[in-house]
Amino acid sequence: MVFNRLKKALKKFVDNVTEVVASKTLSEEDLEPILEELVISLAESDVAFEVAEEIANRLRERLVGKKVPRFSDARQVVVDALRDALVEILSRGYRRLDLVEEARRRSPDNPLRIVFFGVNGVGKTTTIAKFAYMFRRSGITPVIVAADTFRAGAQEQLRRHAEKLGVPFIGGRYGADPASVVYDGIEYARARGYRVVLADTAGRMHTDTDLMEELRKIVRVAKPDYKALVVDALTGNDAVEQAKFFDEAVGIDFIVLTKVDADVKGGTAISVAAVTGKPILFVGTGQGYEDLEPFEPRRYAEKILQGIK
Ligand code: GDP
Repeated sequence: MVFNRLKKALKKFVDNVTEVVASKTLSEEDLEPILEELVISLAESDVAFEVAEEIANRLRERLVGKKVPRFSDARQVVVDALRDALVEILSRGYRRLDLVEEARRRSPDNPLRIVFFGVNGVGKTTTIAKFAYMFRRSGITPVIVAADTFRAGAQEQLRRHAEKLGVPFIGGRYGADPASVVYDGIEYARARGYRVVLADTAGRMHTDTDLMEELRKIVRVAKPDYKALVVDALTGNDAVEQAKFFDEAVGIDFIVLTKVDADVKGGTAISVAAVTGKPILFVGTGQGYEDLEPFEPRRYAEKILQGIK
């Protein structure tokens, strides 16, 4: 089940604290061993250690000194504290962006430019196709640009998506300058009045310095409205490291977290939001075009708490 590990950790915490709070005033000594266990099990659920400790601190602040006479009320008090802590952390850096609305307001000679970054395999190609589908469904036809000119597979994969979705595709010859491919894509959109450009970029090892130069050049040339980073929920702390790395290299505006539907641990969203302070704007919930959900901190916290209350 999705987020199983995280849910198990949180449920154990709620059970343990509820028992104490229902019988006596909760002291720091009561809480400490329970929090210690929580931190360890959160870390095992892909929550970065420092973030797990932060959650523990917030729970300590909220719960020490609590006493509730009835068991059922006690559980509610603990769950509420947990929900508040999760929402606070998931909200860090959060902002609501309505990309469809923004695209709609654009004048046709100035398309909304979104450039996607991310390491190969995280689901970047699929995410771009999902974005294209989202715009298309709202009556806005985007142009898809494939600027990974070293990987023929990446070009082909995007071309196929574009064909299926019925949206224009701009690719580049093998070895062509990726920045010029993106530039061509933007010019194409501008000349024909398309309001959105979705550009893929190469995702070789993110520590590759040539790649970082290549990506910086794309940013200089394309002047994206949004630099989107795609990370994979299944990679846990790697996702956090990638987010930090890409943010330093090119500056990230928002994050798309993929594969949450397959995530049995569940902590990556919490870590990514907390450590980077960048908004997660969407989560990927499957392989289909429609499997892209807007991320909303409170709703996500509820999803985590489902089955615990
Ligand atoms: P890229 O190398 O980053 O472009 O990755 P791809 O887009 O080719 O995706 C790699 C694999 O992950 C493919 O099999 C996708 O179908 C799958 N994938 C992408 N996003 C999701 C998602 O949100 N959920 C699930 N379950 N699979 C996904």
